[in-house]
Amino acid sequence: MATEKEMDLSGEKLAVSDFSLGKTLGTGAFGRVRFVTHKSSGRHYALKTLKKAAIIKMKQVDHIMSEKQILAKLQHPFIVNMFGSFHDPRYIYMVLEYIVGGEFFTHLRKAGRFDNEQSLFYAAQITCIFEYCHELNIVYRDLKPENILINADGYVKLTDFGFAKVIEHRTYTLCGTPEYIAPEVLLNKGHGKPVDWWTLGILIYEMIVGYPPFVDEDPMGIYQKILAGKITFPKIFHKEAKSLVKKLLTPDLGKRFGNLKNGAADIKEHKWFKDLSWDDLLAKKIEAPFKPAVKGATDTSNFDDYPDSDQEPPAVNASQDPFTNW
Ligand code: AMP
Repeated sequence: MATEKEMDLSGEKLAVSDFSLGKTLGTGAFGRVRFVTHKSSGRHYALKTLKKAAIIKMKQVDHIMSEKQILAKLQHPFIVNMFGSFHDPRYIYMVLEYIVGGEFFTHLRKAGRFDNEQSLFYAAQITCIFEYCHELNIVYRDLKPENILINADGYVKLTDFGFAKVIEHRTYTLCGTPEYIAPEVLLNKGHGKPVDWWTLGILIYEMIVGYPPFVDEDPMGIYQKILAGKITFPKIFHKEAKSLVKKLLTPDLGKRFGNLKNGAADIKEHKWFKDLSWDDLLAKKIEAPFKPAVKGATDTSNFDDYPDSDQEPPAVNASQDPFTNW
């Protein structure tokens, strides 16, 4: 396997013609992510392509700029690596490490739910990610099964830092997926790092049960349930997992785990994780409880199919282009 240094394209002047474009792996609000091969090196990447005009129209320039800056800063085994970026009049591009196993979401839906061991394995990695990001004052703010990818080794890679934000204390913008929104966000009390720990609690619940703790047909119903705070734990819930989820899904920020004076250490030292070596996990020395079926570095069969052709978006005039330094 190529080293990170060999994969790095940040020193090169890139254009989309340097890549042969393969299957669309996923789509987002402003574009799509495609499997690509860098022609001259033969290396494979995931190319995130975003439409400039759409970003400008939706007033998301700052968000997208910060996504790139944040990704460039982060170096972590459980976070998708960015290897380069470039732009043309219509699009901005991010060259990402290709994560061959597909979305965690797909595997979770296929399995229905994960057993205690598998849920713990993923929850521990997300804990490491948030601990690392928060030390850098970066709040992720958008944890959900769609944003977690699984690599061939069975370990996770977090992607999509489009909502992530560098903050010292709190911020007030409403974002996130209804089922994963924290009560303080709904109450507009400002939200910071504790939001991420709340979403970890939702994710653990969803892995173990198969659906999130607050569900309803419409978002308003979900919000009411989040604020009411009543959580039902089915019998399958491991006792220690339940204890941790309750501590994460605590509306009172002064009591929420992750947000107390010991920070992430309270979570790492929780009884649910008592048999886990955090050092071994970070070094990927623990055998993953599940590995996706992968036929090779170019396999894209773990991703759903998306219609391929897209209407060409308008070009943005250089004099009005906020991305000239991208
Ligand atoms: P995003 O806009 O970053 O949320 O990406 C949209 C979708 O593209 C994700 O949900 C994944 O299915 C896919 N995707 C994003 N980044 C990668 C990657 N580095 N490797 C493989 N697939 C990816």
